[in-house]
Amino acid sequence: MFNSELIQRLNKLKTPFYFYDLDLLDKTILSLKDSLELNYNVYYAIKANNNSKIIKLINDHNLGIDAVSGEEINKALNCKINPKKIVFAGVGKTKEEIILAIKKKIYLFNCESFDEVKLIDKISNELNVTTEIAIRLNPNIDSRTHKYIKTGMFDTKFGIQIDHLSDILEKIKNLKNIHLKGYHFHLGSQIDDLNVFVKLSQVSNEINSYLKNNKFNIRDINLGGGLGINYKEPDLNLIPDFRSYFNVFKKNLICFDNQKVHFELGRSIVGQCGSLFSRILYLKKSFNKNFMIIDAGMTELIRPALYNAHHHIDNLSSIEKEIKYDIVGPLCESSDTFAKDYYLNESKLGDLIVIRSSGAYGEVMSSNYNLRKKAIAYYSNDLF
Ligand SMILES: *Cc1c(COP(=O)(O)O)cnc(C)c1O
Repeated sequence: MFNSELIQRLNKLKTPFYFYDLDLLDKTILSLKDSLELNYNVYYAIKANNNSKIIKLINDHNLGIDAVSGEEINKALNCKINPKKIVFAGVGKTKEEIILAIKKKIYLFNCESFDEVKLIDKISNELNVTTEIAIRLNPNIDSRTHKYIKTGMFDTKFGIQIDHLSDILEKIKNLKNIHLKGYHFHLGSQIDDLNVFVKLSQVSNEINSYLKNNKFNIRDINLGGGLGINYKEPDLNLIPDFRSYFNVFKKNLICFDNQKVHFELGRSIVGQCGSLFSRILYLKKSFNKNFMIIDAGMTELIRPALYNAHHHIDNLSSIEKEIKYDIVGPLCESSDTFAKDYYLNESKLGDLIVIRSSGAYGEVMSSNYNLRKKAIAYYSNDLF
């Protein structure tokens, strides 16, 4: 992914920093759009990465935005996203966030509890508007991913239990200021097994028929996001296989006339275009281990510490034979570890290290723990 000229330029920059390949992002979005059916719409999950340059590119390609907070809605609007292309999800929307979203005239709320639906109805009544909503259902499908990133099982906080649906529909009929326009699922993240999406299609088909039989006029079927990326060997799949993913729905999903299908992809769009660059501060042997202490830590990329996530790591300054390292950050936490027993070219102090596939849930989750400064982001088109 990095030619020697680029490495030379990057090697002059102060580490740690993020680097985004906007050309790869552009190609990724083109490939995504090329795989879409006519009634498919993609709402980029802005929580994965909210950098303005990235949002601008998303907007240039006419994708929508899936927001999970009022500030994410504001950010999208500031980046000139049309409010009619914003959907609003989240299990704990506040009254202020709901008022903001209604006033800005976003496309749709994805509601996660009946209390929330009631509050949106009440606020809509006070503002003298009718608000269109979808309800997020928890379908109890195991997305076979890490427990903190799966969201579609009965014991997670997300969505409305699927067998409470008929109950909720009865109650919704009595609310005057909301219109039920859709239903929503989001099973979890980093899903590699496409069979999970076959099951999701089947559940969606049942719900779609059920709602139709109960005289609800459903316009939007929202199937969430969650398509995984190749963290182990990013160069083998710099662009995810969107075609196979959408083909699952093309084959298995039943839509009635004029229904739109929404997808809310985050990681699969931006994951591979971002990398975190760092330099080796120290090397030490301790209890038969080679510790490599680098100047990036969990404050820049928390995924390994938080989810035990694997990222591909390279030493861009060495072509020596590989030996095993524990690659750790400088923070005062044992979990501040990027990889254990990881084979890397034999290294020396000051070598440039790259942690790949950091475009999604990387920079957005950074913190200033230990009073560390936020890492700068560079973009491919800045450096040339
Ligand atoms: C996080 C999230 C997404 C995006 O998930 P990815 O795994 O990044 O594709 C989509 N929809 C909702 C409701 C989410 O919370």
